[in-house]
Amino acid sequence: MEATVRQKNLYQTVTDQFDRAADLMKLNEGVRKILSHPQSEIIVNFPVKMDNGKIEMFKGYRVQHNNALGPYKGGLRYHPTVDLDAAMGLAALMTWKTALTSLPFGGAKGGIQLDPAKYSAAEMERITRRFTYALGDNIGPDYDIPAPDVNTNSQMMAWMMDTYISTRKPADRQKNIHIVTGKPVNSGGLSGRDASTGLGVVFTIDEWAEINKIDLKKTSYIIQGFGKVGYWAAHFMNQRGATLLAVQDGSGTIFNSKGLNVEELYQYTKTNNGLVKGYSKAEEIDKIEFFKIKADIFIPAALGNQVTEETAPLLNVKLIAEGANGPTNSGGEKICQERGIKIIPDILCNSGGVIGSYFEWIQNKHQEIMELDEVNKRLKSKMSKAFGEMVKAADHYKTDWRTASYIVAISKIENSYRERGIFP
Ligand code: NAD
Repeated sequence: MEATVRQKNLYQTVTDQFDRAADLMKLNEGVRKILSHPQSEIIVNFPVKMDNGKIEMFKGYRVQHNNALGPYKGGLRYHPTVDLDAAMGLAALMTWKTALTSLPFGGAKGGIQLDPAKYSAAEMERITRRFTYALGDNIGPDYDIPAPDVNTNSQMMAWMMDTYISTRKPADRQKNIHIVTGKPVNSGGLSGRDASTGLGVVFTIDEWAEINKIDLKKTSYIIQGFGKVGYWAAHFMNQRGATLLAVQDGSGTIFNSKGLNVEELYQYTKTNNGLVKGYSKAEEIDKIEFFKIKADIFIPAALGNQVTEETAPLLNVKLIAEGANGPTNSGGEKICQERGIKIIPDILCNSGGVIGSYFEWIQNKHQEIMELDEVNKRLKSKMSKAFGEMVKAADHYKTDWRTASYIVAISKIENSYRERGIFP
């Protein structure tokens, strides 16, 4: 129940953000109505045989928010908080994110409401394959392209791709491998896709540091979530010489005032089910104490609704770089603004993931291989352009970076609707 309420808040947060931007930019009334609803809300119930031979039913979601600018694109999440509201909020965020970064994609999101820790690897494979089969033609390589998100990874994307192409005619199989992105490199994945979200987070922090003439070598930061996004963000912050003071994940919070060794901690998590709890070169602190730590930067890289009316007053940072989707709710945002805490909004900050996914999609469609240095160069260029557009809109509309980034994104979709009109 608590989980459902929390994710409803996420949808509310995204709706509030959209409304603020739509009011300020005086969005066309008809387009506003269209963008206020997802285009499709898909729920599939499907059976899976468990290791003990019994059948269990699962509920999977896919919300397709908007495809005015291109095929639907967005991750699949396996988590107890996944429900229709969560998927609706996260799908809308994807629409804004792809538009902001000028990708030829729309927005979607989905997943399964489950706790992966309760299932064996073999069960996770069968769940993933059966979910793919249940989604059927609701997804497609030029229609709706899933990717990894919380608790889903490149292995699962390989299973999804394999299941999807196995249901196509033999001659069409290789033509369909771009049904998902975030695949392992040997299975059509992109070099650097695993790191691209975290690298993108740090590219946006670089831009902030440049504007404010801050030397990242002298900065400290705290991270919530040490998974695919959190670890890689820490890896690139470490390259810049910044000091990681604390990490909070699903298992607890660890702190070291002298700094944590990012790579050593990462190696430790690999032996500890991906979790930071029990790492010996840090002290364990209370969940709420984490938010009070004095640092320059906070990188939320876990779930939504973390910077709230309760936690925002505690924060002792200059910048929040939103690696996670929807980490700041409307109340939390207001408090941060009053307290002068700058926010790099999720739709820009973590867009490196979907930009990497776009490169992978192109690579598969054109049957070419993109080298890592080219990937990172193009990623930086795309993110820097979007950052510049956001800053320009913030100046023009005299508003915060989040509202400005929404305005940039929504304007592109509005223009597309104006050009095409509404069928019939
Ligand atoms: P992940 O599953 O790899 O990692 C999630 C992390 O969050 C883990 O460290 C987990 O322990 C932690 N966590 C879970 N519950 C928590 C809690 N209650 N408190 C604190 N930490 C908790 O997932 P990810 O792919 O790194 O995604 C993290 C966030 O980034 C999500 O909001 C996701 O939507 C967003 N995101 C991911 C990508 C991507 O490419 N993977 C792209 C853009 C945005």
